[in-house]
Amino acid sequence: MKKFLSIVSSLAIFASCAEKNSNYSLEDYQSVKKTDIHIHITADRPTFVEKAKADNFHLLDVALEINKGWEDVYFKYNHGKNQQEQNPETVDLVTAFAVSDWDDPAWESRVISWLDSCFNEGAVGVKVWKNIGMVSRDSAGNLITIDDEKFDPIIDHIQQSGKTLLGHLGEPKNCWLPLEEMTTNNDRTYFEKHPEYHMYKHPEMPSHEEIIASRDKMLEKHPDLRFVGAHMGSLEYSVDSLAARFEKFPNMGIGLAARMGQVFYQTVENREKVRDFFIKYQDRIMYGTDLADNGTITKEELVNRMEDTWKRDWEYFATDNMMESDLINSPFQGIQLPKEVIDKIYYKNANTWFALKP
Ligand SMILES: [Zn+2]
Repeated sequence: MKKFLSIVSSLAIFASCAEKNSNYSLEDYQSVKKTDIHIHITADRPTFVEKAKADNFHLLDVALEINKGWEDVYFKYNHGKNQQEQNPETVDLVTAFAVSDWDDPAWESRVISWLDSCFNEGAVGVKVWKNIGMVSRDSAGNLITIDDEKFDPIIDHIQQSGKTLLGHLGEPKNCWLPLEEMTTNNDRTYFEKHPEYHMYKHPEMPSHEEIIASRDKMLEKHPDLRFVGAHMGSLEYSVDSLAARFEKFPNMGIGLAARMGQVFYQTVENREKVRDFFIKYQDRIMYGTDLADNGTITKEELVNRMEDTWKRDWEYFATDNMMESDLINSPFQGIQLPKEVIDKIYYKNANTWFALKP
């Protein structure tokens, strides 16, 4: 009996050691390899990349067209390229294209030759932004949507070139709600500042469901395309809706950028469900933040913002600490994912989904 007890207790010690080794701690943040798949640098200073290197982060710098057409795309892409030239081992580029000249007969060939020039420089993907579906219009005044057949040869070309489409299509569901009903404080602040994008105020515009439906239609037409839905594929409000899309579209992954508030919010409601979602879809989810440097804040403010964001999210994924965040109004508990899940979400999946050469 004594012998049996000692075996039991040594098994218990073994089990607790194994448990310890299966999780990361706060202290492991620095040493674990990580990638932030969604950042924007439009400044010349090296501050952002230096902080990333110090914290063991690889970066995907993302270009996009906001509203000034090609000029905007070139400006953002070239800033990223400049950063990459100085730190090729830390920075990869996601390019973009404009739709400002959509009705020009040369539009398609212009897009293809621009994308090819970026691919030749090593760009790993192409971003499409919410202007498609919500802002940009053809010369007849109709909104341009991502399922328009004019996009098909472009998307085929991206796929055949072995590149990834990163799609910020639509907005968080909060965008269609009045400010006081929004689930996260960051959405409330953003739409208060940008009433032009606050769809609750523009009932003549498409609904959240319509925008998601045209995104899904595009995916149905391009089943072999590697598609990464930025901002949790604009289905940030429910891990159940996301799970349904994952089941329907095997080549769809998501990035988490700027939607940790929604993750925290759902964690308050049902932590186990959120944790199960991250474990079940551990091969489809990539860490990202939307952190940006446009040169308008001090070096110190930028570094603090990066540090706060990156360490907050690490604490959430790696530990089971009780946490608070200004993104939401209730406390929540970290989901303490197993090491191998964290390694995928934070690093390995980006290499697979963007065909990076680590
Ligand atoms: Zn972004």
